[in-house]
Amino acid sequence: MPLRALLLDFNSYFASVEQQLRPELRGRPLGILPVVAETTCCIAASREAKRYGVRTGTSVADARRLCPDVVFVQARPAVYVEMHHKLMAIVDSVIAVGEVLSIDEVACDLTGSWQREEVIRELSRQVKQKLRAEAGEILTCSIGIGPNRFLAKTASNMQKPDGLTVIHEADLPDALYGLKLEDLNGIGRHMLERLNRYGIYSVEALCAASREQLRRVWGGVEGERYHDRLRGIEVVRPPSRRGSIGHSHVLPPHLRYGNGAWSVLSKLTQKAALRLRAEGYLASRMSIRVSWRRHDAWESTAKFTPMSDTLGFLRILAGLWAERPGQGRTGSEATPRPPLPSEGEGRGEGDGPKARWGEPTKVGVVLSGLAPAEQETLPLFADGTRSPGLDAAFDKVRRKFGNDALYFGGAFLAAHEAPMRIAFNHIPDAATESDGF
Ligand SMILES: [Mg+2]
Repeated sequence: MPLRALLLDFNSYFASVEQQLRPELRGRPLGILPVVAETTCCIAASREAKRYGVRTGTSVADARRLCPDVVFVQARPAVYVEMHHKLMAIVDSVIAVGEVLSIDEVACDLTGSWQREEVIRELSRQVKQKLRAEAGEILTCSIGIGPNRFLAKTASNMQKPDGLTVIHEADLPDALYGLKLEDLNGIGRHMLERLNRYGIYSVEALCAASREQLRRVWGGVEGERYHDRLRGIEVVRPPSRRGSIGHSHVLPPHLRYGNGAWSVLSKLTQKAALRLRAEGYLASRMSIRVSWRRHDAWESTAKFTPMSDTLGFLRILAGLWAERPGQGRTGSEATPRPPLPSEGEGRGEGDGPKARWGEPTKVGVVLSGLAPAEQETLPLFADGTRSPGLDAAFDKVRRKFGNDALYFGGAFLAAHEAPMRIAFNHIPDAATESDGF
């Protein structure tokens, strides 16, 4: 089986960008935070901080405990996106980028002479050298090459930082035996528990398991696909169509109350609707998620006929928001009324449900059930809830004057909050996600 895939992954990307641009941070353990607050978590860590065990998801308190010298830096999403485009142009000038997988990861399909190890190794060296010369020596990457993308990704994880690793079919499965199960792509905490329940505790055991066994572990055909991927077979991915558009935001301390959370949710919803239309989709489901200081996150979902208009989504948001817990009234109220932005619980503390849940700390909204806009017949103002003309005007103003130029009132408290978030599987488009909205 030839070498068919290359995967390039930038090392500790957010932290490395900061260290590249701010020399005073080089060599220091950094924790990148979404907002500067004691209750938040690191969204990234520099290689120096990783040596102390600080990683994505480590809380500020734990990071301090693990590494007393840690330096916290507030994330600058717009800067990381700008650097992403610069880096991608450099990589693309040497090896044609096949697919951008996330802000710090790209894949390239190998064909022809590029499938020869000496050729693709030489190209990889050229990429690294050009990145060093044109972007800077701190922004290193690890490159993995293998018979399929899964193994290329695995290879890229084997040597960090600044790695270049090739896995050949002939090296399998032994080449994988040095890894832990959770080092493999697609094996998170839950899958690890499942594997353990089926008696699989090592990569050796995983590789020895039959297709049928893995089908049982995964509970479906995905287990068979995993079996094939481990053997270098390029599993045909189902045609990729975006499944959802979502944004979430850790609330800064001054918005950790009802109306503050509501205004951020409103803004995130308007932003998701804008992106939905920019990408040509309609959505038929909307979910919101609210995390609380003293309670597990709460989620609620609404289903509706496919649409893309902002006002419609804001109406649904208001309905979902009215069901939230911890607002000091019982859930037995017959018809919860959407709160107006000018009312709500204010900042007052008290007894009852609110005291039990604590204040909201993070909010998120996801639009799903997506379908291409041209495949649906859009009822124009049929039930008074569609406003495509209004949205088109909104989108036009925002494109011309910036995303903060115009927004529906509910978001006014959060006009300068909820800056562009970077999900690891989504590269923000600078046109629809300028910083600040
Ligand atoms: Mg990376």
